[in-house]
Amino acid sequence: MGVQYSLFFIQRFKGKVLFNVPMSDYTSFKIGGPADVMAFPQDNNDLKELLNFAESKRFKYYVLGGGSNVLVRDGGIRGIVVNMADGFGEITWVDDMRAVVGVGVRLGDLLKECLDRGLSGVEFVAGIPGTVGGAVIMNAGAYGFEMKSVVEGVEFVGRKGKKGFLSAAEMGFEYRKTDMPKGTVAVRVHMAFTKSDPQKITEMVDSYRRRRKATSLVAFPNAGSIFKNPEERIAGRLIDEAGLKGERCGDAEVSDVHANYIINRGTATAHDVLSLMATIRDKVYKHKGVLLEPEIKVVGEV
Ligand SMILES: Cc1cc2nc3c(=O)[nH]c(=O)nc-3n(C[C@H](O)[C@H](O)[C@H](O)COP(=O)(O)OP(=O)(O)OC[C@H]3O[C@@H](n4cnc5c(N)ncnc54)[C@H](O)[C@@H]3O)c2cc1C
Repeated sequence: MGVQYSLFFIQRFKGKVLFNVPMSDYTSFKIGGPADVMAFPQDNNDLKELLNFAESKRFKYYVLGGGSNVLVRDGGIRGIVVNMADGFGEITWVDDMRAVVGVGVRLGDLLKECLDRGLSGVEFVAGIPGTVGGAVIMNAGAYGFEMKSVVEGVEFVGRKGKKGFLSAAEMGFEYRKTDMPKGTVAVRVHMAFTKSDPQKITEMVDSYRRRRKATSLVAFPNAGSIFKNPEERIAGRLIDEAGLKGERCGDAEVSDVHANYIINRGTATAHDVLSLMATIRDKVYKHKGVLLEPEIKVVGEV
């Protein structure tokens, strides 16, 4: 397996390649065992070659953006982690309101570009870490807004390295969810914004930043909200009302700032986080009769 990997990467792949990589270095939680291989495709061709190679050798692959919404189990990831946060970093303006945005662009950089151009649509991402790719796949949102409102469509590379395009309707956007076919990697997102008064946009962004600072500024590594908000309810409030702030398992702890955040106090393992999540689900169900559904993606081997 090692020799096959090495030959391919030397001969056909332009991007950086790392072997036996601790996933804790690539997730905002700072948790996760080693990935066998992490490859950073630089363009469509690199990605196409990589997916072809993985499929021809029957190696599994997992797509990673900024790693701010994933929990990697302690056994790590077998196969290849396709890290999309290094290449695909360009924003190409099609006209004064529409752009094709690489999935590797950081949300903060997209917001800055929109602010500079007096464009409205993504003010709500202020303070959300991660890449445009991860945000679109998760249909990230805040304060009543979601990524889906600015997405016209997504260019992707899929199985056997085949290129394609999904319209926003075909993406199947739902609350923190899309229907991208399994094994499909988003590469570029077609986005449309609206013109607005730059001062109003700045005020909006500042108010979201202040709200975030007041409600969820957490000093330890975390992955944002752990559970989805059930219909008409707020997960953080349910967890708080079930008396779970400060609840601990190993070094994983329910934040006392935002009850839907689990923080890593230093040496938390994925096992600690998953045990704490199970406790939260049990207690919230017992006290409030609501079964919480995880928002974070849990991947890798036990
Ligand atoms: C402090 C903090 C605050 C947060 N606040 C919010 C918030 O307010 N609202 C919110 O919605 N989220 C929030 N999050 C969660 C997270 O930041 C967002 O979901 C973010 O958009 C994920 O982007 P990412 O690049 O880190 O994705 P990752 O975590 O790397 O990946 C997320 C998912 O997308 C898939 N994926 C990533 N890139 C691609 C691609 N190119 N093609 C196909 N699949 C891909 C991955 O396989 C994974 O399933 C927060 C997280 C933190 C740590």
